Amino acid sequence: MGNKWKKVPVDVPISELSPLNVECSSTKCEDDLHCFSRYMKKAEKKFGRKGVCYNCGHDSIDWDRIHQNNINDSKYILESLNKELIRKIFTTIKIEKNMIEKAQNEGREKLRAEARKELKKRIGKYNDFIDGRQTPKDAGNIINLAQHATATCCRQCLEAWFNIPMEQQLTELQLEFCTDLVMLYFDEKVPNF
Ligand SMILES: [Zn+2]
Ligand SMILES: [Zn+2]
Repeated sequence: MGNKWKKVPVDVPISELSPLNVECSSTKCEDDLHCFSRYMKKAEKKFGRKGVCYNCGHDSIDWDRIHQNNINDSKYILESLNKELIRKIFTTIKIEKNMIEKAQNEGREKLRAEARKELKKRIGKYNDFIDGRQTPKDAGNIINLAQHATATCCRQCLEAWFNIPMEQQLTELQLEFCTDLVMLYFDEKVPNF
């Protein structure tokens, strides 16, 4: 494994970042790319407020609004997710042609069913893998990429972003919400989907 930046150096542009050289807790605060879903206790202690970036204290996110988990408010949700560096990387990542074609061939309905199944398997119930290991970052699976982009990758991210307690089994409604989020990623990344 090569070096991963925790704090991305100022002179390294976002375009040079990939899942290979950043981790879930990486930040690039001067470019408005933070980390909210790691070290939450530490961040609260350091800045005296909840839901802030552990590195710089950035607090522009309206958590009460996010925690409604209302897919009709997805524009705001996605906008907010993209203030977290790791989400931004997966949102802007270039997806391999064969993955795009596979998604196009499968089509919306089939991919949705597959995504739901994958989400249930990976995050449906609590398990010990509360970091990125729970869902591969390097897999040739577009669903996993979508999960990292939307904070539906692991139960720690899910709790941080959507206020769903880690130990609780996902309800059908919550699973539906996660699937909706993942579908929005495909809408964005797969042409003619
Ligand atoms: Zn920050
Ligand atoms: Zn995660």
